Amino acid sequence: MNKRKNSAAKKSGIKRKQSNKFHSNKQSTPTTHKSNKSQGKNLTNNKRGRSKKTITAEVTCTGLTKSGKGIINWEGKQLEIEHLLPGETAEITVSTSGKQVDAALKRVITTSENRVKPMCSYYYECGGCQLQHMNEQAQKHFKQETIEKLMKPFGKPEPILTMDHPYDYRNKSHTTFGLNKDRQIIGGLYAQNSHQLISMDRCLIHDPKADEIWQTIKGMMKSFKIQPYNEDTGQGFLRHVLVKVGKVSGEIMVVLVVASPVFKGKNNFVKALRKAHPEITTILMNVNNRKTSMVLGDQEKVLFGKGTITDTLCGLKFDISAKSFYQINPIQTEKLYAKAIEMAKLSGKETVIDAYCGIGTIGLIASQKAGKVIGVELNKDAVRDAIRNSKRNGVKNARFYQGDAGEFMVEMAARGEKADVVIMDPPRSGSDEAFLSSVVKLKPKRVIYVSCNPETQVRDMKYLTKNGYEVKGIQPVDMFPQTVHVETVAEMVLKGV
Ligand code: SAH
Repeated sequence: MNKRKNSAAKKSGIKRKQSNKFHSNKQSTPTTHKSNKSQGKNLTNNKRGRSKKTITAEVTCTGLTKSGKGIINWEGKQLEIEHLLPGETAEITVSTSGKQVDAALKRVITTSENRVKPMCSYYYECGGCQLQHMNEQAQKHFKQETIEKLMKPFGKPEPILTMDHPYDYRNKSHTTFGLNKDRQIIGGLYAQNSHQLISMDRCLIHDPKADEIWQTIKGMMKSFKIQPYNEDTGQGFLRHVLVKVGKVSGEIMVVLVVASPVFKGKNNFVKALRKAHPEITTILMNVNNRKTSMVLGDQEKVLFGKGTITDTLCGLKFDISAKSFYQINPIQTEKLYAKAIEMAKLSGKETVIDAYCGIGTIGLIASQKAGKVIGVELNKDAVRDAIRNSKRNGVKNARFYQGDAGEFMVEMAARGEKADVVIMDPPRSGSDEAFLSSVVKLKPKRVIYVSCNPETQVRDMKYLTKNGYEVKGIQPVDMFPQTVHVETVAEMVLKGV
C-alpha cells in the first residue's frame, strides 16, 4: 500500500524547485579514479556570517542508501548524492558550513550500464519517483538488497514480485492547482517534501485517464470563474482534484476538494465535466476549509452518481469511497494478497483477525477459506465500506468493527477470546505495543504481517520473535515501481505448535 504523504513543510509562492539537473553522457570516456580528488575551492559567507566553503570534487559512487541516493566517501565522511549510481564517477560540489556538509551532483563523468534516461520529463524536479534513472533490473536488485539487509535477522526473503508494465499503475491521484507568475492557472503535483507546485500534464505512474480528467478540469476553471486555492492567503476555491479509478470495473470517481461549501454554477460544471468525460461514474464535492496539508476535509456532498466506485480484486467486488484506503496498485495487490492467504494456511475452520482491515479486502478474501473473520479498522468510512462489501459478496462469516486495532486486541485478550490467525496490515508507522502484546496473549498459531514500511515491520517482528514467534517466510512485492517503496508480507508461526 502506498500511504505516502507529502510533508507539511510549507513554503510560500509557487516556484519551480531548483532541479538537480545534469546531463548523463553514456558515451563519455570512462576514467579511472583511485581516490576522490578535490579540484577547486571557493569561499563565501552564508546568512549567519559563518564562512561557507564550496569545492568541486571528482568522486566515485560506492553504493546506494535505502532511499536510493548514491553513497560517496569524501574526506572520511559518507555523503549522499541524489541520482548517482554505484560505480559511476562524477563531478560534485561540496559545501561546508560549520559541521554542515552538503553535496550536489554537477556532472556524471562515467555512467553505469544500469543508468537509463528517465521516461518522465519532470523526474528531476518532482521527487515523487526516486528510481527512474535505473533500469528495471537495477531497481529490482536495489529493492531485493534493501529488504535482504533489513530482514537479515529473520532469514532470506523470496525474490521480489515485480510488475510487467511498471507504469500507469496508480488507481488514485490527487492534483493541485495554482497560478504561475503570469497568473495563468497551472496544475500538477507538489515536489516531494515541499509545497512547491510543479506544473505538469502527465505523471507516468498515474492511471492515464485520471490525468486526462484533471487536465480537463484545469481547462474549465477559467470559464467557470473557479480560482485555485492559495494556501498562504487562504483565497481561492479549488484546492485539489482527487481521482479514483476502478481498474477492472472502469468506474471513475472525481472528488473536487474545495475551500468553501458555496460552489456557484456547480450543476453546470458537473454537466460540462460529464459531457467531456462520460466515463466518470460519480462526482463528489469535499469541503476542506482548514489550514492543513491533509487533502480531504470532513464535509462531503455527492454531486453525481452513487458517491462510491466499485472494483474487483481477487474475484470479489469492493465498494470504495472517497476517504477509505484502497491499495493503489491493484495488479500487484492481487499477488500480495494471494501470498498472504497462502501463508495463512487456512483449512476452513480458523478464526482470522484482519487487523487494520481498511475496506475489508484481505479479510473478505480470506473468509472464503476460514471459519470466521473479525476485521478492525479506525476509519469509520472504511468500516462502513467493509460491511457493505461483505453483504455485496454474500459473505456471512465476517464481522467488522470500528476502533483502534491495539485497543480492540487488548479487549479481546482480556475477554479470553481465541484467534487462530492474525493478518495485520498497519500504516507506515507500524503497529504498537498494545496490539503486539495482545497478539502474544491471544497466541494465534500464525501471524501474517503485511507492511508498506519494512523498517517498522522489522521492529514489530523483533518484538514478536522475542515473544514466542518464528519467521517462516518473507515475500517482497513491488507495489510502487519507480519509487523506493517496497511492500513485504512475512509469515510468522508460534513456536512449538
Ligand atoms: N488491509 C487494508 C488496509 C491497509 S492500510 C488493505 O489492504 O487495503 C492501513 C489501514 O490501517 C488504513 O485503512 C488505516 O485507516 C488503518 N489504521 C490506521 N491506524 C489504525 C489503528 N490504530 N487501528 C486500526 N486501524 C488503523
